[in-house]
Amino acid sequence: MSHQLLILPGDGIGPEIVAEAVKIIDLIIKEGADIQYEYGVLGGSAYEKYGHPYPEETQKQSQSADAVLLGAVGHPKYDQLERSLRPERGLLAIRKDLNLFANLRPAILYSELVNASTLKKEFVDNLDILIVRELTGDIYFGEPRGIHVNENGEEEGINTMRYNVSEIKRIAHVAFQAAQKRNKKLCSVDKANVLETTELWRRIFTEVGQEYPEVELSHMYVDNAAMQLVRAPKQFDVIATGNIFGDILSDLASMLTGSIGMLPSASLNETGKGLYEPSHGSAPDIAGQNKANPLATILSLAMLFRYSLNDEKTAHRIEKAIEKVLAAGYRTGDIMETGKKQVSCIEMGDAVIEAMQGI
Ligand code: NAD
Repeated sequence: MSHQLLILPGDGIGPEIVAEAVKIIDLIIKEGADIQYEYGVLGGSAYEKYGHPYPEETQKQSQSADAVLLGAVGHPKYDQLERSLRPERGLLAIRKDLNLFANLRPAILYSELVNASTLKKEFVDNLDILIVRELTGDIYFGEPRGIHVNENGEEEGINTMRYNVSEIKRIAHVAFQAAQKRNKKLCSVDKANVLETTELWRRIFTEVGQEYPEVELSHMYVDNAAMQLVRAPKQFDVIATGNIFGDILSDLASMLTGSIGMLPSASLNETGKGLYEPSHGSAPDIAGQNKANPLATILSLAMLFRYSLNDEKTAHRIEKAIEKVLAAGYRTGDIMETGKKQVSCIEMGDAVIEAMQGI
């Protein structure tokens, strides 16, 4: 089956890190995969070319692609622009346009990088958690919202936490299916003791769970989940939660690993189309210096193969190659330790390609 990919290098280090992931796509194509790809612009680069961070051209390309690989967007030079034209708006627009309601953020700590974590080795060594966060609902989008003057003449801020059954069901299916592909444990995080919205969330997760008897479902209140993530993070396999809790917990979980340059992410819609990008930003401080760590982007590409192209074999092969490269002592500046071999962005990409030949 033929697959069409859209590559959006973006701004800052985006083009450098994406170029290393594209080398891998080229290798897979050379080995016979039926994949085509084209480039597009998003964020600041799109503003430069078309005067808008998510122009119509990119919109058309994204809609016809099976999956999108993004570097990162943003640069301080755009901070003075009117809000609707800023690079980050391009990111929000593409997420909304493609209806990317499920955000998957793995927090994986490779044994080789265990010293990067602020937690003790025994708590985080070989950590492998996947956070599934609902991305298009909840208090971030619920109406009514706003700041108004109340009946006492005092200013008041309002946001509304809302989820309907179909929104909960579709994210539950994504979470259960992700758990099926992993260690078959799913923890749904809510605040059902206080918030009715999440009482409904818990009930629907329990109902959907009956369709996945092989997945062990548990429920946890969000305050306890935050505590448990720091106390004993390895108890988790997949965590599923709403937009606001997921925002906070996924940052917490990712920082257990200590290495921002190593964290991929995927945002999926109902048809399995996805936007894949590193969790970090465009790092303008090191852009254009061939210093950036391309591994988060390469790991995002592995997720693209796993979730949008249903090619677990290639996903696994890319991840194994990264493990091999780390075991061989290759490190970019952000994960450098004494005794290891510091390499550039391009050298790291080349090392992964070389490691893939033998897998
Ligand atoms: P950042 O993630 O870009 O950088 C934070 C720090 O981490 C910097 O010191 C940077 O050099 C380092 N870093 C990040 N990625 C790295 C990598 N791959 N290799 C080595 N070091 C890396 O966050 P920031 O500085 O707060 O934001 C910079 C710009 O990125 C802003 O314009 C922001 O809006 C944007 N941003 C974009 C996204 C996105 O595209 N999804 C996400 C976050 C921030």
